[in-house]
Amino acid sequence: MPISVHDLAKQLAIAPEAVQLHAMDLDFEIGEDDLVSDEIAAEIKKIELGDEVKQAEHEIEEELQREIVEEQQKKTAGQKKSIRKKPKVEKEEQEEVVEVVKSDDGTIILPENLTVRQLALKISKPIPIVLVKLKQNGIIANLAQDIDYETAAVVADELGIKVKKEAVELTGEELFRADISQLLKDEEPETLQKRPPVISIMGHVDHGKTSILDHIRKTKVAEGEAGGITQRIGAYQVNVDGDLITFLDTPGHEAFTVMRARGARATDVAILVVAANEGLKPQSIEAINHAKEANIPIIVAINKIDLEGANIDQIKGQLAEQDLNPEDWGGKTPCIPVSAKTGEGIDKLLDTVKIVAELQDLKANPNRTAIATVIESQMQEGVGPTATVLVNTGTLKQGDAFVIYDQHGKIRTMKNFEGKDIKQALPSTPVQITGLSKLPHVGDLVQIMESEKIARRKAEEVASISHEDELGKRKKFSLATMKSKLAEGKLQQLKVIVKADSRGTMEAVKNEVEKVKTDEAFTKVVHAGVGEITESDVMLGSAGSTIIVGFNVEASNRIQKLAEKENVGIFSFDVIYHLTEKINDILLGKLEEAEIETIVGEFKVKAIFASNKKMAVLGGDVISGKVRKLSKFRLFREVKNEETGDMEEQLIAEGKIASVQIGQKETNEINEGTECGMKIDHNGLVFKEGDRLELFVVKK
Ligand code: GDP
Repeated sequence: MPISVHDLAKQLAIAPEAVQLHAMDLDFEIGEDDLVSDEIAAEIKKIELGDEVKQAEHEIEEELQREIVEEQQKKTAGQKKSIRKKPKVEKEEQEEVVEVVKSDDGTIILPENLTVRQLALKISKPIPIVLVKLKQNGIIANLAQDIDYETAAVVADELGIKVKKEAVELTGEELFRADISQLLKDEEPETLQKRPPVISIMGHVDHGKTSILDHIRKTKVAEGEAGGITQRIGAYQVNVDGDLITFLDTPGHEAFTVMRARGARATDVAILVVAANEGLKPQSIEAINHAKEANIPIIVAINKIDLEGANIDQIKGQLAEQDLNPEDWGGKTPCIPVSAKTGEGIDKLLDTVKIVAELQDLKANPNRTAIATVIESQMQEGVGPTATVLVNTGTLKQGDAFVIYDQHGKIRTMKNFEGKDIKQALPSTPVQITGLSKLPHVGDLVQIMESEKIARRKAEEVASISHEDELGKRKKFSLATMKSKLAEGKLQQLKVIVKADSRGTMEAVKNEVEKVKTDEAFTKVVHAGVGEITESDVMLGSAGSTIIVGFNVEASNRIQKLAEKENVGIFSFDVIYHLTEKINDILLGKLEEAEIETIVGEFKVKAIFASNKKMAVLGGDVISGKVRKLSKFRLFREVKNEETGDMEEQLIAEGKIASVQIGQKETNEINEGTECGMKIDHNGLVFKEGDRLELFVVKK
């Protein structure tokens, strides 16, 4: 009696498609709902259950043995990927658990390499079928043998299963630190394609940065294509004779340094704008040092050449003093005279950008899940949080599941810099995205994941890392890590930013600082300036391994707070000897750090929901500050003083909060004035109603 495809599949414990495939191999085409004749069913059973497979496996074994012998004879340790050259004959692990990862559209994600057995499990197909498919493609393999993705994809495709290669992702730690460098280094060279350069414009205030950006935008971007007003999204692209150039539309170097501090190299070339009638100013020098620190090429735009009093040669002389030797003086720095007012020289500037970028050989892999960097974020009425991101690698697509720091979601809409809705964005493209639940920080990385589920998992991982650091701040660098790096010999250079009250003292301090060295480490002054310690100094310092020393100058409270946040050490002195002694101590790893304790919140216990030897669940109010998961606390209680008979608050014990929740929902942090619950892990601590918990953090 004929049997349906489904019933036959059930009998053989295989998928209906496998039945269809077997039938195809026997030169019969059958639909999923067709009936299979007895004759064909018998043939299929034979293939599935026995002879053919046994024969195939026998051949495989024989072939393998032959190869092993040959291999041993040749004694080649060839690392080729070809599976015929890499027979593995270890016994398969019976207990192996294979996780099946699927993207939101059901595509199965496969790794770069996997065993035949893992492939069969991942695509839910019987191993013999996979072996036969491999054999049909000329590949003789056994179960434990490694095959590469390309081979696996051919097998899956022939079995009608959609698969995709797993992209190398950022680890939770890398996302936390917004560090993309390792991942970009690991990209296979053959996957890389040319990408447009990303340009930052820097320079002293009023030297014409905005005017140059505006001029380029007005003349090179066909405005109004999207039906009128071009919306500013913090970056734009121009097409110069067929080549795209991306400009970060945030003049000044704040965004640039914040991003760099986070490890993201968001800029490929810096344009330094210097007004021809004014020459180099402190901020110009700062910009030069920022770019030098980032190791990116500098093009100088000598602006305002339309003005009387413009002295191009004088500017070139000043640039040479800063080690930026103009090209036409035999040096390496292109210096282009321009006028943002008349437009003179702007085309030449753009051509120069193209030439300099070409030399850098900028590439990215457009065929992977995207990684992008947040360059701006803002709340938009009726839309909610939006972010402008610059794609670093991969192609960003509408609908992609993302993780940005500790939030995850799906890209709802994507607009290009002209305000047009787009579906996908290639490397170096700036786009504005929606679908966020909160505003991300500038410099945060956007990592696209295979599914929302995986994105959520990753976001949770980042959140847990950020909570291990009790302040919840992004630690990039601290004196403690610098000290240990110096001690371990991993860091040989201590970078120093010198600020002093006059040019004379600045030079003197700079000289003295550069003289300090130990057997293992030395100092390098990356920037020296006259005047107060500024935000820009801190941001330059936050790029890593840098301290700021002020000589007869102080940092304001605001700057000190910023430095604390960015983990940059600031030291002020008025005696040179003290300063050099301190630096010497840092180099020797001798610097002692004081522990500072800060109280972050208070909680009043109103109810004890559960309590045993190991843990307690408390309910109550946040009476001041914040209550945060994993914070430490001190427990205070009103106790009667036996001598005086008065009630006084006494310290009972210390402990740590395991988790906090509002209603049934666990959360990370709860603000003042909120009723909440918390779980506490402890050793037999007994809580009482009316107890006060003082939450604190300890910082070096
Ligand atoms: P930013 O602070 O560096 O962004 O400088 P702006 O672009 O705001 O320019 C400062 C001032 O210089 C403005 O009044 C501009 O109109 C003017 N300016 C900019 N470029 C030129 C130029 O090439 N020629 C002249 N004459 N004025 C310019």
